[in-house]
Amino acid sequence: MKRLTLDGLNKAYGDTDAVRDVSLDVAPGEVVCLLGPSGCGKSTTLRIASGVERQTRGRVLIDGEVVSDDAHHAPPEKRSIGLMFQDFALFPHLSVIDNVAFGLTNVPRRDRKRIALEYLERVEMAGHASKYPHELSGGEQQRVALARALAPKPRVMLMDEPFSGLDNRLRDEVRDAALSVLKEEGAGVLLVTHDPEEALRMADRIALMRGGNIEQIGAPYHIYNNPKDRAAAAFFSDLNVIHGSVRSRQTDTPFGLFLTPGLVDDADVEIIVRPQHLSIALDDGARPESSARTGVAAPGSVIRARFMGSESLIEVSMDHDNSVLRATVPGVFTPEAGKRVWLSLKRESCFLFPCAAQSKVRSPFVRDGESVF
Ligand code: ADP
Repeated sequence: MKRLTLDGLNKAYGDTDAVRDVSLDVAPGEVVCLLGPSGCGKSTTLRIASGVERQTRGRVLIDGEVVSDDAHHAPPEKRSIGLMFQDFALFPHLSVIDNVAFGLTNVPRRDRKRIALEYLERVEMAGHASKYPHELSGGEQQRVALARALAPKPRVMLMDEPFSGLDNRLRDEVRDAALSVLKEEGAGVLLVTHDPEEALRMADRIALMRGGNIEQIGAPYHIYNNPKDRAAAAFFSDLNVIHGSVRSRQTDTPFGLFLTPGLVDDADVEIIVRPQHLSIALDDGARPESSARTGVAAPGSVIRARFMGSESLIEVSMDHDNSVLRATVPGVFTPEAGKRVWLSLKRESCFLFPCAAQSKVRSPFVRDGESVF
């Protein structure tokens, strides 16, 4: 049984198609993240799931029961959903425990404080039960908001950027606490975020949205490593682009040959590589040995290098076309500007897309007859 099903949702505001044919399921205990840039339709999808907004076309089901279609539309309070937003404020005039007890209208009055306290314990806020919201930090308020949303035992939790008001350190802490409680509760969670790191950290599955569509959906590891196009790859990190052109079903680059069997001569291709998948070596006079895994090393000169905390970012001007490639390496590696270096690709982590169609070439990349995928 799926906790939440969105089936062929469309939503138009005047001429704007905010959501186009969005379908997805959320299983019990599963966290699905809607990830995408501002304006791509994430919040509208969430508002439709909650019932605050009504779709132009399509259906919403909770636990297999239709709660909204062309014929009828259940309001949010009749959907067994919990809501959590960035600015979903607690009631300032109620104590922490009364804030949590407030939504427990479906349990006898005498049990409400006991249940509220249980949920405050789950988010490690029981010690603050008699305080008022203004006496709590932002992270503590979010924990209470989570307890309040979960206490009525919703079948579906809908969360819109719930952690984005918190500073980095606190955000990690509150996110981890939220995730463990959400998993225990077995609600289906639909979480909206524009932050790829948050999606990778929280999600069982990520749905990438663009222009109202779900472009790709899958497990974080899968979607990170198998983006369907350059834009999908760009959701998660900065990218390096190496241009090439097909000749006799292969593309020659300064980093070696890539087989491109499905493409006609002169087709332009882009080889996409994330900065952490470039290796860099100081030039000691000899070109590093080539291998099936790394291909051929290409020479360049350091433009600048910066230490970023746990890694270093090095920008290199490539000899072959003066393009700038960015490599990140763990730890401290900050060669001076002008230093000569060799860059090589971790070939199994490269993506190759034809420029025009932007669809992935599915064949493995092969060099010297050896498959590296
Ligand atoms: P996101 O959450 O990804 O930032 P939204 O779902 O808020 O995106 O918005 C998707 C599109 O729908 C945007 O172009 C936005 O301007 C438009 N939109 C959202 N809500 C309304 C509204 N109430 N009236 C008109 N247009 C809206």
